[in-house]
Amino acid sequence: MNQSVFDTLTLIGIGLIGSSIARTARERGLAGSLVICDSDPEVLARAEALGLGDRYHQDPADAVRDADAVFICVPVGAIEAVTCMIAPALKPGAIISDTGSVKMTPATVFRRHLPDTAHGIPGHPVAGTEESGPDAGFATLFDQRWFIATPPKDADQDAIARLTAFWEGCGSTVELMDAEHHDRVLAITSHLPHLIAYNIVGTVSELEDDTKTEVIKFSASGFRDFTRLAASDPTMWRDVFLNNQEAVLEMLGRFTEDLTALQKAIRRGDGAALFDRFTQTRDIRRGVIDAGQEIDAPDFGRHVLD
Ligand code: NAP
Repeated sequence: MNQSVFDTLTLIGIGLIGSSIARTARERGLAGSLVICDSDPEVLARAEALGLGDRYHQDPADAVRDADAVFICVPVGAIEAVTCMIAPALKPGAIISDTGSVKMTPATVFRRHLPDTAHGIPGHPVAGTEESGPDAGFATLFDQRWFIATPPKDADQDAIARLTAFWEGCGSTVELMDAEHHDRVLAITSHLPHLIAYNIVGTVSELEDDTKTEVIKFSASGFRDFTRLAASDPTMWRDVFLNNQEAVLEMLGRFTEDLTALQKAIRRGDGAALFDRFTQTRDIRRGVIDAGQEIDAPDFGRHVLD
């Protein structure tokens, strides 16, 4: 059991990420009291049935009144509306963070709408699954994962230290980064792979019926890895692309150029070009394993993980 980091922590949005934070905070004693808020009354009732918090509110302003820290765990497109609702009700000195997969949006929103007495520090737990809702969360989700915080340049050091202590208590390693840089890095490591998965699975869904059946039957040859990503929450991912337009379009431009080069190599029968590219990408895979982001086991560790 850790020492409690916050006396009262409010979680707004109790889906996969919010409910995982609630479970972790409770199990590891990271918050004295947990207040849960969600705009959906059914989700809120389910959170209560699961015993995720100590108090439950549908109104975000009521939920934050005595909070020392507030984590906004809603889709990125809803962060501004929530911030505007809680701003007048915040206790002086409260730390406001979020879990959104894009960081420039909360950075701008916090700067624009939070009172000077609150500490706005956007954050992103780089952990998740394709599931959503309060039943999908689990207490070990953040173990051995990154938490990227993007504090503004003039952020209060004590507030950064407390947010860091909370996420370290959740088992994460905390990295501080500039919000714009975060959005560029995540555009290539997370957002573009999801876009490619949505696209390839979408292409299959438009194939004629007999071909589609064969694709699903032989999906273990690669396709099923795309289906996992493409099963991710549509609201969350719509908001990611709408809020990280510039960086995603830049990475997509580079991707398209490289794809065209591969297309040309195939058409010309240029085996050396294909071989060189595929050798280079193996090295990247080795780097991912060496960085502890994946395990080196047959079948991509699927049997071990299963
Ligand atoms: P989720 O399971 O869909 O949960 C989001 C919850 O927020 C839902 O219960 C939703 O209610 C509620 N909500 C939406 N608008 C709200 C509002 N205005 N006020 C209060 N509650 C509201 O989503 P999630 O996967 O936990 O993702 C939450 C955030 O974490 C997103 O910003 C996402 O980008 C980020 N994130 C997700 C992952 C991942 O793998 N899923 C990983 C890292 C970060 P409704 O059902 O009524 O909409």
